[in-house]
Amino acid sequence: MTRRVSIFGATGSIGQNTLDLIGRDRASYEIVALTGGANIDKLAGDARAFNARIAVTAYDDQLDALRDALSGSGVEAAAGEAALIEAADRPADWIMSAIVGSAGLAPGFAALKHGSTLALANKESLVAAGPLIMAEAAKHGARILPVDSEHSAVFQALVGEDIDTVERIIITASGGAFRDLPVEALETVTLDEASRHPNWDMGQRITIDSASMFNKSLEIIETKEFFGMASDQIEVLVHPESLVHALVGYHDGAVMAHVGPPDMRHAIGYALNWPRRARLPVERLDFTRIGSLNFRAADEARWPALRLARDVMQTGGYAGAVFNAAKERALDGFVAGELTFNGMAQVVESVLTQMSADPGLSSAQISLDTVRQMDHLARQYAALAIRAVNQ
Ligand code: NDP
Repeated sequence: MTRRVSIFGATGSIGQNTLDLIGRDRASYEIVALTGGANIDKLAGDARAFNARIAVTAYDDQLDALRDALSGSGVEAAAGEAALIEAADRPADWIMSAIVGSAGLAPGFAALKHGSTLALANKESLVAAGPLIMAEAAKHGARILPVDSEHSAVFQALVGEDIDTVERIIITASGGAFRDLPVEALETVTLDEASRHPNWDMGQRITIDSASMFNKSLEIIETKEFFGMASDQIEVLVHPESLVHALVGYHDGAVMAHVGPPDMRHAIGYALNWPRRARLPVERLDFTRIGSLNFRAADEARWPALRLARDVMQTGGYAGAVFNAAKERALDGFVAGELTFNGMAQVVESVLTQMSADPGLSSAQISLDTVRQMDHLARQYAALAIRAVNQ
């Protein structure tokens, strides 16, 4: 029997790796929806190649180009945010949520309604609205499977175990492009340098977030939301080899580590085939060649994003949505040359400080509409903070 699959963010790094795996076993899958943003050629090419029922670009002004590129193929074309939600509303058995940024929240949320499986790469959804997403999944009997390599690793190290016996979860970080650079030198690093990851091949935004550790800070919050851990049960270790992705410590002192090659097709393939383990086209590690694995503490002075994530977990409520939106706006600023690399953390901290005056920030109950409003407001504050940093 074939499985119906939709991929949100199909033209990106995770989306393409997902299609790579699906393409190796084409007859087992029926593609419902593929979505993308500006890369119309890739979206249309894959929609044709995989015979998708619908292809959606996030941008209204790209609709004509998408229609032209799909003409004669029989694939439906659509554009805009509402079209993304409509595509998420189409029944599928397995949905990949791999849009980058908070734009992935609404389609991922809508996809949970059918009670199917959501493979969640879009960590920003859990950071901004974790309790809402987990509750929506529970309400509809949907299953969320982690795709982030660290969270997939934790998920695998938990198989057959009782979550109540977990004492701590350690997620690892490569340390990104600047892990060995003197802290003072971070002030002058360039966009080009920040866009090169030492171990992983990923989209540009997450690569820069790895260098600043904003990616890890989102992942700490993701760990809290996904596995229901307390903030002080989650640790980060710098592990330059990127082979041990996470470790789970149990209350008898045992630690289960997940080790694998730095290839996202492992975590994607695990989510695609769960609960089975399928044969995957990833490198088999030769431990005699690896020789040693190194670990060191993650220095919060070098990476202030880690400290900010702890504050965000402490505040709860809408702090995650504010943190993520301010981070996204600050990252836009760095990419556009408006902000230095260090300026990103300064801007995010300034937004969190300013918005902490709002008593609603730490609300116990959150709603999707208010998450959107907080996101919008945080971006406005971040734009002002960027101006202030530049004066
Ligand atoms: P990419 O930048 O490579 O791809 C992002 C995808 O989202 C593309 O399909 C892009 O379309 C689409 N997109 C961009 N902006 C919008 C928007 N406003 N609305 C709708 N779609 C949009 O990102 P990655 O694949 O690297 O990352 C995707 C998600 O997975 C992120 O949340 C990231 O944190 C997470 N993740 C990624 C990992 C990786 O190895 N890459 C590892 C773990 C998690 P287009 O390109 O056509 O414009």
